[in-house]
Amino acid sequence: MSPTHPPSTPRSVAAARLDGGRLCLDFVNTIHDRYAVDVEDYVQDAQRFIAWSERAGALGPGDGVHAPRAVHARAALMREVVALRECLHALFAARIDGLSPPAEAVRGLDRWLHEAWASQALGADGQMHWRADARDARLPLKRIALDALDLLGGPNVSRLRRCANTTSCGWLFLDTTKNGRRRWCAMETCGTAEKMQRYRRR
Ligand SMILES: [Zn+2]
Repeated sequence: MSPTHPPSTPRSVAAARLDGGRLCLDFVNTIHDRYAVDVEDYVQDAQRFIAWSERAGALGPGDGVHAPRAVHARAALMREVVALRECLHALFAARIDGLSPPAEAVRGLDRWLHEAWASQALGADGQMHWRADARDARLPLKRIALDALDLLGGPNVSRLRRCANTTSCGWLFLDTTKNGRRRWCAMETCGTAEKMQRYRRR
């Protein structure tokens, strides 16, 4: 997480950090600070969501996906972005806290997974490919849902962590350190902030 910006001046998408270690975690981390009253949302409109998806790898250069033009289509997309993001945050947070996942969040991800599977077709090469009609602004959400399934159902799920900065972060990350004791979303942001605080207290 980077230094505090007032929500009125959203940072550029290019400046958004990707510290989660996985696409689905970076997506959940597009809320800059989960403890803030007035949160900064990196993907607060359809264009920013598409730009962020390209930056984070949820869209590739060959996808040719653009933000929808119609106002109502943009609004509908953003409702889905927010809903999937909250659903994934609830699932990951439950996992980290050792709680059972909220049923609504399970249903939410399940719906996206089925959409993602229905959007692919088996090719002659034996691989699954996105259908041509799936190459729209909802494609990143399908890729994010598949990545979340891969994480939740895989061996790395025990490495899921929440940043130890309990006042101004709330980001989730995958701890890939050997000893499994990483505490911060990033040492140079939250880790440094904590070190500074300890220094000042002395
Ligand atoms: Zn952090």
